Amino acid sequence: MSFLAAPAHWRRYKERYRLMGSKCEICGNVYFPIRKICPGCRRGGKLENVEFSGKGKVHSYTIVRAPPEGFTKYSPYAIGLIELEEGPKVISQIVDCDFEDIKIDMSVQACFRKLMEQGKDGIICYGFKFRPVDDSWKENNNKPLS
Ligand SMILES: [Zn+2]
Repeated sequence: MSFLAAPAHWRRYKERYRLMGSKCEICGNVYFPIRKICPGCRRGGKLENVEFSGKGKVHSYTIVRAPPEGFTKYSPYAIGLIELEEGPKVISQIVDCDFEDIKIDMSVQACFRKLMEQGKDGIICYGFKFRPVDDSWKENNNKPLS
């Protein structure tokens, strides 16, 4: 368990829970996650924390069938590059739908879910995943129900 160690996770708990990012008041660019320095303006930038709506759309996605250690029991799962309505892109799991129902440009909404359980300490990490906004997209595909 390396890339999502518990102490680092809890330091970032607030921004994960609230889906926070940064907006530069000088150039107007919006970033996720929170940044200290605007990559565009460098020292001239002025970053303010912003809270995202959680609404976005699927920019691209992939189905993970050979996940990293710690995620094997969730396999397979869908990972999407979600474009938030504020602009930044977020890599996140897509849940609450069948893989074949995931479409590019599908509207999604952030939801707060268990990310993983961590080994013997029983630490459970929570964070954002994304789910379809509603079921209306299902009515638009003419697949027969099976
Ligand atoms: Zn800037």
